[in-house]
Formats: sequence, structure tokens, C-alpha cells
Amino acid sequence: MSDKSIAFAADRMLGRLAKWLRVLGCDVIYGQHLAGHGLIRAARADDRLILTRDHRLARKQPPPFLFIDSNDYVEQLRQVMGACDLRSGAGLFTRCLVCNSPLEPRPKAAVEKLVPPYVFSTQESFSWCAGCQRLYWPGTHQQKMLDLLGKIAVP
Ligand SMILES: [Zn+2]
Repeated sequence: MSDKSIAFAADRMLGRLAKWLRVLGCDVIYGQHLAGHGLIRAARADDRLILTRDHRLARKQPPPFLFIDSNDYVEQLRQVMGACDLRSGAGLFTRCLVCNSPLEPRPKAAVEKLVPPYVFSTQESFSWCAGCQRLYWPGTHQQKMLDLLGKIAVP
């Protein structure tokens, strides 16, 4: 899959888009320092495609960038998925939405003390973020995300 190799640097106005690209499994850096020259520097350092809403960025001789047209995160996601040929597929829910680290599968037996009893008794698959020590499992929020992605997906 070609989209595995695309990494992004999202400017600080695009937090919601950054999170959604992480849902798809994309490597996206995002933070308050990522604007103007800080954004350009960070993108150059790791060869990342810049995602920006900043009209003035083009004057600063940036590396390759994609200007994001809409203010609405659903439209933003649609634009990036189309422009970069991203699919909602194998990479789904493989990256931490908070810190961007790749998630590692955790056997159910290893998480019993870490999750509420109801979650433990109803869920079978768990993933762990070593970066920020978060545990993930499929739930209603994931189903809502999948529903939204189903509406966006390129036919
Ligand atoms: Zn994390």
C-alpha cells in the first residue's frame, strides 16, 4: 500500500484532521509549534507532506505541501484521502490518536487489571501505546468513526 509511506506534518489549525488521519493509521505530527517556519523545518526533517490552511506558507519556500480548502474536518479528510489516495483499510486503528505512536496488540490476559470489568468481559482485542501508556479497544466510538469513514470513502 502506497499510503503507508506518506507521512504528514499538519499545521496547528488542523488538529481534528490530524487525529482522523491517525485513525487511518497515517503518521502525522501536529502541535502548537507547527506553524510557519517551525512547520517547514519539521516537515523537512522527516520528509513529511505539509498540510496547511496558511495562505502565507507558500511564500516561505516550503517543501511539498497540500493547501487544505475547507474549515470542516470531514471535507478536509475527504480532500486529503482523495489527493493522497488514502484508503480506509488495513491501517485502521493502528496508531495512537493522542501521540502518534504505532500501537501494539496486547493479549487479553495481559489487560485484565487495566480495564473496567465490563470492558474486559465484552472485548476481545486490545492495543497498547508505549508512547503515552494508553490502552485501546474497539467500542462505540470506533464504530462511529467507521460510519463516518464509510461516508467519506472514495468509491
Ligand atoms: Zn500514545
